[in-house]
Amino acid sequence: MIPGLEDITIDNVTGEALAGAELDVLRLDKIHPVISGNKWFKLKAYLEQTGQRGIATFGGAFSNHIVAAACAAQMRGVPCVGIIRGEEPPVWSDTLKEAHSYGMRLVFVSRTLYNRYKRQTDITGLDPGLADYQVIPEGGTGEPGVTGAEEILHHVPDRDKYTHIVTAVGTGTTVAGIIRAVSPNQQVLGFSSMKNNKGLHSEIEALLLRSIPGNFRVVHDYHFGGYARYTNSLPEWMNWFYHMSKIPLDFVYTGKMMFGVFDWIRQGYFPAGSKILAIHSGGLQGNRSLPEGLLAY
Ligand SMILES: *Cc1c(COP(=O)(O)O)cnc(C)c1O
Repeated sequence: MIPGLEDITIDNVTGEALAGAELDVLRLDKIHPVISGNKWFKLKAYLEQTGQRGIATFGGAFSNHIVAAACAAQMRGVPCVGIIRGEEPPVWSDTLKEAHSYGMRLVFVSRTLYNRYKRQTDITGLDPGLADYQVIPEGGTGEPGVTGAEEILHHVPDRDKYTHIVTAVGTGTTVAGIIRAVSPNQQVLGFSSMKNNKGLHSEIEALLLRSIPGNFRVVHDYHFGGYARYTNSLPEWMNWFYHMSKIPLDFVYTGKMMFGVFDWIRQGYFPAGSKILAIHSGGLQGNRSLPEGLLAY
């Protein structure tokens, strides 16, 4: 059940808005429609340990990780439980409906309980029925998730030529893997999709098992109101980007990241001659929760 890693491409984006910077996009979104982008890399090492056990994992109502885990479990024919943050909503999000359609059993728990267990490996206190399950922490974070994300750049043949590598940030697992994989003269920028997630810094340090290196920075300015929120300028901009590049973005992560990249280019943040590699971490199925017709794709 390996997604199509051979389908990954590196697409060059050109246009006046780049003001001379070079921009390549690593299309991890192409590897699989559901187990998209970074989610496959984060799940990989966990799934290697799973064997024929069931899978239990944690996420919110808009978590691409939840859908990816549900789909991966279905492909393996093992049972899967999704522990979902917060009370059950009156109307399920498309993400939850999709995860359920792959056979995932959804268990809604209070934020307090969720936070207590989201990084534990023994969650029988939450549900004694899960004793034999492989527990994957929230969003596929943890050391196996970081190790998997380190492999992302193996799919970039000429990776040393880039001066900047940018990626969207949720739990910080993916960017932690990228930080480990780059050389010290390459800058890593992580665009956070959450509002004021000031804990991110120390969470990334915990994942790296060291302090934040000097070539890494988290950018908090492009959350558009918070996680899975947006203002109209975001889908409008994503349509503009699609028209110029033919690359579809998602509104939760990669749309915000790419908007931020172009804004930083406009502000002259990137020195002349910069070669930017933006990681398209997938997540396109999340666009289904947008009103129809808002996006041109
Ligand atoms: C989950 C997700 C992220 C965030 O990844 P983390 O490893 O949690 O930081 C980024 N982009 C997309 C499209 C995602 O689905």
